[in-house]
Amino acid sequence: MNFRELANPHLFNVPIYEPGKPIETVARELGLDPRALDKLASNENPLGPSPKALAAMRRAIRAAHIYPDGHAVVLRAALARHHGVDIRNIVLGNGSEQILKFLGQAFLSRDSEAVMGDRAFATVRIAIQMAGAKVVEAPFRNHTHDLDAMRDAITPKTRLVFVVNPNNPTGTRVDNREIEKFLARLPEHVIAVFDEAYYEFLEKPPELVKWVREWDRKSEIRNPKSEGNRKSEIGNPKVVLLRTFSKIAGLAALRIGYGIAPVECAQALERARLPFNTNAIAQAAAIAALGDAAFFRRTLRLTETGRDWMEREFRKMGLEYVPSSANFVVVRVGKGRAMFEALQRRGVIVRPMDGYRMPEWIRVTVGTMPQNRRFARALAAELKAGR
Ligand SMILES: *Cc1c(COP(=O)(O)O)cnc(C)c1O
Repeated sequence: MNFRELANPHLFNVPIYEPGKPIETVARELGLDPRALDKLASNENPLGPSPKALAAMRRAIRAAHIYPDGHAVVLRAALARHHGVDIRNIVLGNGSEQILKFLGQAFLSRDSEAVMGDRAFATVRIAIQMAGAKVVEAPFRNHTHDLDAMRDAITPKTRLVFVVNPNNPTGTRVDNREIEKFLARLPEHVIAVFDEAYYEFLEKPPELVKWVREWDRKSEIRNPKSEGNRKSEIGNPKVVLLRTFSKIAGLAALRIGYGIAPVECAQALERARLPFNTNAIAQAAAIAALGDAAFFRRTLRLTETGRDWMEREFRKMGLEYVPSSANFVVVRVGKGRAMFEALQRRGVIVRPMDGYRMPEWIRVTVGTMPQNRRFARALAAELKAGR
């Protein structure tokens, strides 16, 4: 027997993620100086890490020989305070992508299904398929999740429905009232998962934490401890929120994100978590970042200015783009992969979109103004050269 025969067969259907190309890789491939390259490919924070987080990391690294707190009590308590929930509502992941994996392990199997948008963040598909479950795709409408189509895609086998809001790569958000309508009609056997990696970039964001609190409040009333684990019929939607320190806090390399979930749900996710999934340096950095509102505001201002500027440039160039609610924009350039390669040769790394069945598009992260200008100049030059 070979390894392939021994392995779980469903793993071989899991798609392979194409990450943003690292600066060092591109530099090596093209014989360029890494310092001469700008990476606008992974929606990272162009200001770098939160300065408060950086200081905390420097302190924490001296205790690198000590195991981290496996329950991350200080960080989880800080997050609970920050969101007005209980510490038991917070589950930490090695990046919020790991919470996707926990959700798959906790709630999916080879007999179940999960619904996602056909142009939603690709890691969602990976997490579903890793759990052996069936991916049911609901078509996007106007580059956005179509919540009616998602509702229609639910079957008795559905356990999870994923809404990425704002979505990566399209940058689109779903309307707050549409979300409430969708949740009001959500069947009892389905959990709605909102990947809110770019939440902090939203104007008038949806306030879905209330559904987490509401579930806990009602489950305490309906299931007092003396009655044991009676089957609950609470009638409220089941909601899980995913957030991350990778984007607004500039801590992508540390791999730290979290889920906000009703206590019962969080307990199931905790069972899928290995004891030391987040490291002490990341925990310390995240605690400090939570107290760095000034950095979040600076990031937001830079993003809004840069995004407006970039969208204006696209209009001037006559390019179709999707108005973005996040720190990146997708723009239609003709041959997306060829443009991605051409821009790379000019020192700007972006992301081709053929993996999302958008072969004519590229996605660019909003950088600093010098980075944005360099990107726009390179793009204009390539368009002029007819590529
Ligand atoms: C960047 C991103 C994340 C963040 O993932 P981490 O694992 O927390 O770095 C999650 N969801 C979406 C849609 C993203 O674009």
